[in-house]
Parts: sequence; C-alpha cells; structure tokens
Amino acid sequence: MEAKTSLLDNMIGVGDMVLLEPLTEESFINNLKNRFDHSEIYTYIGSVVISLNPYRPLPIYTADKVEEYRNRNFYELSPHIYALADEAYRSLRDQDKDQCILITGESGAGKTEASKLVMSYVAAVCGKGQEVNKVKEQLLQSNPVLEAFGNAKTVRNDNSSRFGKYMDIEFDFKGDPLGGVISNYLLEKSRVVKQPRGERNFHIFYQLLSGSVHPSQYTPININPSKHVIGGLHHGFRLVSQNAMQIVGFMEDEVQSVLELVAAILKLGNIEFKPESRVNGFDESRVKDKNDLKEMCELLGIEQSALERAFSFRTVEARLDKVSTTLNVAQAYYARDALAKNLYSRLFSWLVTRINESIKVRGLRKKVMGVLDIYGFEIFEDNSFEQFIINYCNEKLQQIFIELTLREEQEEYVREGIEWTNIEYFNNAIICDLIENNQNGILAMLDEECLRPGTVTDETFLDKLNTICADHQHFESRLSKNSKFLTDHTLPHNCFRIQHYAGKVLYRVEGFVDKNNDLLYRDLSQVMFKANHSLMKLLFPEGNPNKVNLKRPPTAGFQFRASVGTLMKNLLTKNPNYIRCIKPNDKKAAHIFTESLVCHQVRYLGLMENVRVRRAGYAFRQAYEPCLERYKMLCKQTWPHWKGPLFTLENKRAQCLEDLATLIQKIYRGWKRRTEFLLMKRSQVVVA
Ligand code: ADP
Ligand code: MG
Repeated sequence: MEAKTSLLDNMIGVGDMVLLEPLTEESFINNLKNRFDHSEIYTYIGSVVISLNPYRPLPIYTADKVEEYRNRNFYELSPHIYALADEAYRSLRDQDKDQCILITGESGAGKTEASKLVMSYVAAVCGKGQEVNKVKEQLLQSNPVLEAFGNAKTVRNDNSSRFGKYMDIEFDFKGDPLGGVISNYLLEKSRVVKQPRGERNFHIFYQLLSGSVHPSQYTPININPSKHVIGGLHHGFRLVSQNAMQIVGFMEDEVQSVLELVAAILKLGNIEFKPESRVNGFDESRVKDKNDLKEMCELLGIEQSALERAFSFRTVEARLDKVSTTLNVAQAYYARDALAKNLYSRLFSWLVTRINESIKVRGLRKKVMGVLDIYGFEIFEDNSFEQFIINYCNEKLQQIFIELTLREEQEEYVREGIEWTNIEYFNNAIICDLIENNQNGILAMLDEECLRPGTVTDETFLDKLNTICADHQHFESRLSKNSKFLTDHTLPHNCFRIQHYAGKVLYRVEGFVDKNNDLLYRDLSQVMFKANHSLMKLLFPEGNPNKVNLKRPPTAGFQFRASVGTLMKNLLTKNPNYIRCIKPNDKKAAHIFTESLVCHQVRYLGLMENVRVRRAGYAFRQAYEPCLERYKMLCKQTWPHWKGPLFTLENKRAQCLEDLATLIQKIYRGWKRRTEFLLMKRSQVVVA
C-alpha cells in the first residue's frame, strides 16, 4: 500500500526521529540541522518535542496556525509546539487526565518562550466569554510581571529567568480555565547586590530608571539615582510592567508600594560606610553620607536613627542576656547587602502570593495543567551556590525524564511480556544522591556545617566534602583519589567539581555557607518590621518584637530541596508532556547551527536513547477495557449489542485489535510503517 498524503513528501528531513533511517548520532544531528536550515525548529521523538531556538521571530505562531493545529491529531501536521499543547489540552478535557508540560534545556535554549507559547495556545483554544477571558488575561499577564522582577540579562540569555516557576492552570469540567497557582523556586537574589561581569541586575531596576538615562550605563545597586531619576521612575515603568500588574489585579497603591520598595533598594545600595576608631581599638562602622540613607528611610517610613544604629551595632543574644556589639565596616557592608537581598527576594515572593490571590480558583476545579519553566543548566567560569542549586534542579528534572521515558517504559515491556532488548542509558540518580542524600549528600553536609557551633567557614565545609565525598564517582576535589574525569589542569584549592549529567562544573566554595545560612541581623529585621509602610510588616514578620522565636529558619538549601521534592511528587501524579529545548549556538544568533554544541546537548539529554526506546517500543497503547468501551461502536461484533461479561478476555482482545486497526489507519494516514504491526499483549493494546 502506498502512502496517500502528501504531507510527508513535503516534509523537510524527517519530522519524527523514530522514522529516521539509518539511525545514528550523525543522521540525527544532520536531520536537526537540515530542518533548522529550513526554519523547521520542531522535530518529534514520538510524542516528545525537540525545539531548537531560532533566535529570530518566525511566522509560525499566528492565529491561523492556532486554527490549523486546533483539534487535529498529533501526527497529522508538521511538528509544532502547538500540536503538543493541543494534545495535552484535549487529553485533559476529554480524558480527564491532569497534564504537566515539562520544559528542559540549558540557559538560553528557549524554555521560557516555549512555556509562553503553550500557555497562549491553550488560552486561545479553551473557553469563551467575558469571565473566562478575564481569567485568561490574568494568567497570561502574570508572565511579564514576574519576568520584570525575576529575569535579568546574563551572558547566556538577554532575558534569563533567575527563578524557577511552576504554574498550575486549573480548568472546570468543560475545559474552561478557572484560574491558577504559581509556585516559585529560589530566586537568585545575590544578583541584587552583585552581577557577574557583562551581566545585569533584574530588569525592573532598569525599567524604573529608563525614563532618563540609558540603562546599560548602570549597575543599579552601585548607582546614585538622582532625585530627577526617581521622579522619572513611573514613566518607564508605566510603559513596561504597570499595565500588566493592573490586569493581574494589583491596586494602584499596591503598585506604588512595590515601586517604593524597589527604589528604596536602589538607595540602600548607595549607602557607604567609613570606620570610626574607638578607644578600645576596635573600628566601628558609620554611614558615610547620609543622603541615601535618609531617602531610603523616607521611601519606606523607617526611623532613620534606628536604621543607622543597626548598621553600627548588632544585638547578640546569649542565653538570657542581650549584648550589643559593634559592626566594623566589612560587617556593615555585609549587613547592607543582606538587607538588600532580603528586601528584594521577599518582595518577589510577595508578588507571587499576590498574583496567586488574584488568579485563585473560585469555582469547582476539575483538571489541572502544570507548566514548568525553570532556570536551565548553567556552567559559568565562576560557579557558586546559585549554580549549584540551579544545576541540582536540572538533575532532578532529568531524573523524571529518565524515570518515565527510559526506565519505566522499558520495564513496562518486560511486565507486559513483550520481547525486549534492553537499551542502555546513563541514569543520573547517582548524581542526585550525591547532592541530596540525607546523610552524606552535599546539601546535608552544608547544613551540618552551617549549624555546627564553632568557627565555620567555606573552607571547613570544603574539608568536610573532601573527606566524605572524596571517593564518589561524580565528585572531584584536590583530595579525591578518583581521577576518572580529571582534566589536565589541576583543581584550584578552593573548589570542588561535579560531573553533572550535562557536563563538569567547577564550584568555588566561597559564599556557600553564607548563602545557605541566609541570615539577616535581627536588629535589621526589627527596624524593617517597625517601618511605616504597607508591605514591610508582611515582609519581615520575624522582626516583630512580640514574637520571640529564636528557632533558626531553615537554610536556603534545605528549603530548596524540600520544595523541589514536593514539585517532583506533584509532577509524577500528572501525565507528562516533554519539550526538550536545544540551543543551536553560543552567540544568541540566528541561522547558526554549531554541530558540536548541539551534539553535546543531544548526548546529555539522552535523546538517542529516547529514540531507540521509542523505536523498539510501541507508539500507541491503551488498556483493553477503556479501549473497548470507547471504540465498541466501530465494530459489528460489539455494536449495537454489547455482550458485557459474556466476552472472554481473548474475544475482547481480538475485538480491540480489529477496531484499533481501522482507527489507527485513519489516524496515521500515510504513515504506513506505523500500522504494520499490531500486537496483542497482556493488559494493553499496543501499536507499532
Ligand atoms: P531559556 O528560558 O531557555 O533560558 P528563553 O526562552 O528566554 O530561554 O529564550 C532566549 C531567547 O531566545 C528569547 O529571549 C528569544 O529572543 C529567543 N527565542 C527563544 N525561543 C524562541 C522562538 N520560539 N522564536 C523566536 N525566538 C525565540
Ligand atoms: Mg527562562
């Protein structure tokens, strides 16, 4: 039988890697390249979508395209992210299955854009009417708000997400959106006070300042925005994010409060300190020029003398005593930066809470579609705690992919009694364990070190790692005996290296202890709590003098590990849809396809293994009962007389088989190879 449709003939290269002949890494990459060169950025591996970042606008996201993909079967049209979105949405609406969209790839590969495309597609095809439209608008507009505060320009990506985001969109039984919930994961708050060379602070600072001076001249935390600039704040802001905030449901005065806080952080960053010699020989810190301090205090309704004092002294609570000790200049700067970071990250969390309040579901929620867009894997020249956390998160996501597409899939065939030759793949569970193991994982040891009495430094932490992890296959430090992945240059003494699934990363330990502790002097949180400003009491509850809670807050690493754990559990309850984003070049440039770079990503993402499992396996499967129930009317044996219990299992199987053959021939019109094998196995109907 010859294929009838012309779709395949027009296709550039092969649209689904499962059909690639012969299948080699070379042909895989060539196929991607060939398609990329013809502006075909999407390619399937079965139901997985590979997406190459085109780094230029393509005319493939129009309303016409949405119509084209709407209600069509996945393999009917050429590969597109819309096909995946449509499939997920329909499966949610018609089969009552909660979905999640898992988008992975390194920084700059196109994850955030992909997540927005999925959301806008779903918004375009679901529900109608004034109420529903309002919900949709709010859900969509939460993006620009969070991007303004949570994204920044990095060397990898001009609009890099510096926080992880998971958004559940909730639907009623008709498939109309009701609202949603956003969870955010550890914002990279160190960026507020320090940005790597060539990078910028969070967008919002530049948006605030954009009315007057070109943003690229600024490193916000170090600048001195004149009154004129602060006066011009609203102009730039109004254009960019204020509109979005209003649509999401922020009140005028809330927007104002948020602005004041951001401006106050700018002021805070300008505060400098000088030493004042004391008789006892200690240096005590003093605020150098009080203008910025004054302006900051005015913006937030803070008592100036109280803040000034908190930059010179701190209260140490020893048993029942309270002792005041002086801060030297270095400590004062430390306190200032800690305050700036805390102000900003707490503001960010508040924004998420506030958005959630707006988009909260009020009706009866029925089904959920989760969209996950996190920070991608990062290897910089200088990697610190933040990269460690980000990369850990990526390991966990890779784990889900491996668990569900490689491991479980293969195990299923064995369970079903289908003949199966095992396909080898690298399981990164061992790296996850190195990081998160409760007893001797790196995060646990960092916590142990942070809580240990006595002198704790980044070096003592590294010593600890050196003794405990030295023999781990994926860990390397000066002391480790394992030279498996030792490179020619010797390891610096203040670093450790992890062989991640996506590459080796050298982490400098400086700052690990501090960032994990994430401590803010109590004197400062008390001053913040007392501020006469609508947001400050909410942001610094621990500063409430009536609430004497000396319990230590959980460390940053602990919190992150816990929230990632919850996220993973949540994802595993849903039907996964994968988008694997690939970055075609390092230059953020259009039309360039750097083979070595793509090849590296294809390897660590496990895409070849993915195709092999997919090819050896069966594209379509369904359990007998629902299959028969659903398609019984297609066959004379089962329709109109449904024989129910009289059906023997064998009969049922035969029936399903026949029905499905008809059906699938329809679906896979032209995909002749796909319909050649229909197999009957223990509990399912599978189609190759
Ligand atoms: P990631 O979230 O993976 O770090 P982004 O989604 O922010 O990466 O993408 C980085 C940049 O690449 C975007 O700002 C945009 O300029 C470009 N880009 C990504 N995906 C697309 C796309 N589908 N079409 C056009 N440009 C894109
Ligand atoms: Mg992103």
